[in-house]
Amino acid sequence: MVLFYFLMNQKKDIRALTKQELRDFFVAQNDQAFRGNQVYEWLWHKSAHNFEDMTNISKITRQMLIDNFVINHIEVDQMQQSSDGTIKNAVRLHDGLVVESVLIPSKNRTTACISSQVGCSLNCSFCATARLKKMRNLNPDEIYDQVVSIDKQSRFYKNHKLSNIVFMGMGEPLLNYNNVIEAIEKITMDEGLGMSPRRITLSTVGLPKMIKKLADDDVKFNLAVSLHSAIDEVRSKMMPINEKSNLSELLESLQYWYAKTKKRITFEYVVWKNINDKQKDIEALVNYCKKIPSKVNLIEYNAIDDSEFQQADPKAIEYYVRELEKNNIIVNVRKSRGKDIDAACGQLANKTT
Ligand code: SAH
Repeated sequence: MVLFYFLMNQKKDIRALTKQELRDFFVAQNDQAFRGNQVYEWLWHKSAHNFEDMTNISKITRQMLIDNFVINHIEVDQMQQSSDGTIKNAVRLHDGLVVESVLIPSKNRTTACISSQVGCSLNCSFCATARLKKMRNLNPDEIYDQVVSIDKQSRFYKNHKLSNIVFMGMGEPLLNYNNVIEAIEKITMDEGLGMSPRRITLSTVGLPKMIKKLADDDVKFNLAVSLHSAIDEVRSKMMPINEKSNLSELLESLQYWYAKTKKRITFEYVVWKNINDKQKDIEALVNYCKKIPSKVNLIEYNAIDDSEFQQADPKAIEYYVRELEKNNIIVNVRKSRGKDIDAACGQLANKTT
């Protein structure tokens, strides 16, 4: 009985409503539909945390909203600032779970690295997030709020607004497809943050069906794929997902993506000692890249606790660069940021829980 009473009285998260649903709600309250637009703007563009802040809405209406809804905002505990200016945040969700987001500064630019799931189910052997089991997907507003908070931090600490977003925090964004797409819609719409989708990159382990779906949905943001090896046996050892969908299936989906979007793929690639640092690994990568318009980001390996892996020799990385360039494949070597505070790629969740 008590539980029944509790459920009956549970208030709804107002940001789960679409703009049209909000408009309809106000009409049903004998108010006008445009009131829905006003509240929608407060919720997204102005990122209001309280109904009391909605000053162009009458007091009576605000009270009615308080009686019916909640605004579930994330709480950001800024955890640490790295000596290189990187900031790592612990993001507390309304149910008490925690994810992480990272502000990565560079000259006149700030990139937000944000999470899409609490934990991750994919078990990549080298990644700290894999040590946490997947607990749940993030809602669109929880993804959106991470971006808003990093934009605020960027303006405060770096004197300019957020310029780029990467979905390279915790979780696999394509396993939380609808919520991630909805969050990106809100981030890019004028009534939201009005950011260009060209400044957003979604990084995935490479799920062929979902990559094709992205292409069919005609998305305008960039796609990065964590490749790490172009040899099935090696890749399967590092990324168990490769046993379910192998490199040739992945390639086919990327070719489909390119045919539809005409957008070049970025491959993320870590070079490990004695795992993928030999001639045959480089040749396989070059051959793979020749089959799809792409560029390669060689990322530095960030050691995680109890990891058996080691960063390759600088010579091996130089060799990769030389061979890729010789074959006219664009390659960047990415130095890790925020390493001293465990904010670098794959270190999220290392020592924080
Ligand atoms: N699930 C998505 C996004 C999260 S991981 C994906 O796999 O792409 C973001 C990037 O960090 C991926 O390229 C991942 O392979 C890489 N990464 C994970 N652990 C790492 C580590 N310890 N050192 C360097 N990069 C790592």
